[in-house]
Amino acid sequence: MGKRKSSAKPPPKAPAPKLDTSFNCPFCNSTKTVQCTMDWERQEGTVECVHCKESFSSKINHLSEPIDIYSDWLDACESANA
Ligand SMILES: [Zn+2]
Repeated sequence: MGKRKSSAKPPPKAPAPKLDTSFNCPFCNSTKTVQCTMDWERQEGTVECVHCKESFSSKINHLSEPIDIYSDWLDACESANA
């Protein structure tokens, strides 16, 4: 007697981990208000705070991730404050 293969549903956990694209704003210090947009055609990534409307753009390549543009922004902020 063969065991019937159970057609179990996939586990309730989210299958694909979604990359975090919300960051904290270095200008108004709001939490998770910075949204990142990747424009692959123009090869430009943009981060913008939905709260204070500060924004920053940076060149991206196929390896770039939202966090990269965000870090570039933080770097740019630091050198601007220096
Ligand atoms: Zn802000």
